[in-house]
Amino acid sequence: MTATATRVLVLNSGSSSVKYQLLDMNPDSGGGPAAGTRLAVGLVERIGEETSRLAHTPLATGGDKRETEGPIADHEAALKAVAAELSADGLGLDSPQLAAIGHRVVHGGLKFTAPTVIDDAVLQEIERLVPVAPLHNPANITGIRTAQALRPDLPQVAVFDTAFHTTMPEYAARYAIDVATADAHRIRRYGFHGTSHAYVSRKTAELLGKDPSEVNVIVLHLGNGASASAVAGGRCVDTSMGLTPLEGLVMGTRSGDIDPAVTFHLKRVAGMSEDDVDVLLNKKSGLVGLCGDNDMREIRRRIDEGDERARLAFDIYIHRLKKYIGAYTAVLGRVDAVAFTAGVGENAAPVRAAALAGLEEMGLAVDADLNAVRSGEPRLISPEYARVAAAVVPTDEELEIAQQTYALVSA
Ligand code: ADP
Repeated sequence: MTATATRVLVLNSGSSSVKYQLLDMNPDSGGGPAAGTRLAVGLVERIGEETSRLAHTPLATGGDKRETEGPIADHEAALKAVAAELSADGLGLDSPQLAAIGHRVVHGGLKFTAPTVIDDAVLQEIERLVPVAPLHNPANITGIRTAQALRPDLPQVAVFDTAFHTTMPEYAARYAIDVATADAHRIRRYGFHGTSHAYVSRKTAELLGKDPSEVNVIVLHLGNGASASAVAGGRCVDTSMGLTPLEGLVMGTRSGDIDPAVTFHLKRVAGMSEDDVDVLLNKKSGLVGLCGDNDMREIRRRIDEGDERARLAFDIYIHRLKKYIGAYTAVLGRVDAVAFTAGVGENAAPVRAAALAGLEEMGLAVDADLNAVRSGEPRLISPEYARVAAAVVPTDEELEIAQQTYALVSA
């Protein structure tokens, strides 16, 4: 890495998509120490289809978003198309200013507790985890291999969704099942969205004017996928997702917590196959299963029109959230803040109001005016008298990945 190499490309490779951001981590580029100035952002969707789409916004040049449609066969072609877009703005991957590529990797198991420079052994270990993350790790591996082929000389760093949760105590991470069976198949609670929980819990401490080591925070990451975490003094002590991202809160299309006997019942009595049950619980459950919509805006609109199914879906969603807020209050003993983040958490004021309604005895309250404010900044939504702060703290997983990547390669 040269002294002038301060840019990090962040890649989030899904099964049929690649999201990317190019950031400059040079403190002189504005925004303070390693604040991260975004030079370009974009997304390739529907990879492998006839109607693939690439949307690229060159923020550095202030240019307009450019969108192209047409077949992009695979991840290699997608990344080459991204590289061409970046080159067109003078930000090509061949630039000596590029310090590293940071990859979001969903499952790091127990081994990866921190961001890691990728070599053959690391890649093998990520591959070894495919059985516990069959939907995510293969796409992440493809993204890494493709990026390595384009810039074999450049450090590639894996930032794991599970890493922040590896501090969970054994009694929170283990399922109460036969230990030998669990260990033989690496069955335990790993948790996900860790990059977001790490970033948001730290930002919440900042909002309170405290060091992360001094505060206990409940983070509610409510996007299409949703998870809660209990963070004590900067360390995760419990989280709602488990072996896979299916456990926990009600999500856009996932059921969250469910009696595992429901799955036996679906197979034995309803005659469904393993794959049918998988699809049902991951894709046809949650809000979409309950009312046909998974977008909270649409659900709120239907509720305003008196739609009973949408109302019930909303109530089930809120009931589950409340249970986790209560549980994590008990786990933490003392809570300093509850922080809402991601698409729903940052934008849906009615969700925040309903989740905290009636929790005054636990020191929680929402100020209606503050809750109605729309802003991209971290902010409090609780009245001054509340013993526990309630906050909206926008997440920024790409910035967190870029910071962790840059810190590792510039150390
Ligand atoms: P992902 O898990 O896909 O990263 P996001 O964090 O982007 O998801 O959240 C997407 C969800 O956020 C949408 O499905 C929608 O329910 C919700 N959302 C986005 N904007 C709003 C809004 N203005 N009001 C209510 N909900 C919103």
